[in-house]
Amino acid sequence: MKHPKHHFFSMTPETLTDWCLERGLPKFRAKQIFEWVYLKGVIDPMEMSNLSNLDRKMLQSDMAFLSGPTVAHQLATDGTQKLLIEWSDGGVDAKEAGVDHESRLPILGQEMPYSDTTRQTECVMIPAVDSDRRTACISSQVGCPVGCTFCATGIGGLDGNLSAGRIVEQVWRLNQLEGVGRISNVVFMGMGEPLANFRPVVEAVKIIAAPWGMGISARKITISTVGMHKAIEKLAEELDLPVTLALSLHAPNDALRRELIPWAEFTSILDLKHACKKWFAKTGREITLEYVLIGGVNDQSEHAIELVHVCKDLRANVNLIRYNEVAGLDFRRPNTEDVHRFQYLLREGGVNCHIRASRGRDIAAACGQLRHEHAGT
Ligand code: SAH
Ligand code: SF4
Repeated sequence: MKHPKHHFFSMTPETLTDWCLERGLPKFRAKQIFEWVYLKGVIDPMEMSNLSNLDRKMLQSDMAFLSGPTVAHQLATDGTQKLLIEWSDGGVDAKEAGVDHESRLPILGQEMPYSDTTRQTECVMIPAVDSDRRTACISSQVGCPVGCTFCATGIGGLDGNLSAGRIVEQVWRLNQLEGVGRISNVVFMGMGEPLANFRPVVEAVKIIAAPWGMGISARKITISTVGMHKAIEKLAEELDLPVTLALSLHAPNDALRRELIPWAEFTSILDLKHACKKWFAKTGREITLEYVLIGGVNDQSEHAIELVHVCKDLRANVNLIRYNEVAGLDFRRPNTEDVHRFQYLLREGGVNCHIRASRGRDIAAACGQLRHEHAGT
């Protein structure tokens, strides 16, 4: 079997320099290749005009750049664009599923074969209405092991993890969309639970933030997690970059949270608050609490009042998100007056809170919805 090509988007200056030296290319080629790809957006070695012919050919035969076709590309009326990428030649690595009951961490590194049929993930480019901000919303896994009852991604379970390179590649591909301008922000709010694919996500964030890589400041990168407190603490220890952490809370008490988020069984809101405080102590960054308002489920006055108590001793901003309905799921979008009352009650209680504008509604931009529609899963 032919040895698989190296994937460019997982490379660092150290690994690319080694790759060059092993193949007899001069050491300075690594810097030139990074500039072609990340600064000039060129991935065809034949266009890399300051490389020798031989080196271009070596790059062409031994390095993979894009690792799969775009099988759907949608453009919403508000300028939001969504890509469905098929990771066709393997590279969706070790499958991790479940939670280790003792350490209360997602189980790491269990090798399992991935499914042949569902290796598609989504990524979305969201342009700001009032500024140059261009946000890339990217996936970390193929499917998701958590299985939140309201989420389209959760329906099919987990099919595999994305490698660091494939996570970075999504940002690069969105950055190349015509007439869009440079991606300025990255959010891990596509498919998958980033902290259940811990190591590749950490590596990818480093490449996205690196000046020789995508060059996007860590402060403009948001990792959204359903929240395993030990994994949050581990991230604070190991990432060592001031990224923004968004915690998907969605309920003001453990009982309701556990109905919506199966993995909430392994943690409590109190544990999560401790982890958030440690995160703040280590990074100096306030946490964003995500709260998807689902009609009649978690959007009533009593929930808002309880949420005020949860937030009281936390340095957090609350993001209220209106639920996007998912075909086949029995949850509905909240009423407008309930959303406004919810926000009013939080603000009255001294909680900093915003209602997030829904973008790309006409292309079902909530995570997992395009794959869901495309595959009929
Ligand atoms: N697994 C991570 C990141 C991906 S989901 C997490 O759950 O945080 C990103 C965000 O989208 C989460 O806050 C999630 O609750 C929210 N979300 C999922 N499905 C949604 C839907 N149908 N409508 C609105 N928000 C949704
Ligand atoms: Fe997974 Fe996040 Fe969807 Fe829950 S909301 S199933 S954690 S992607």
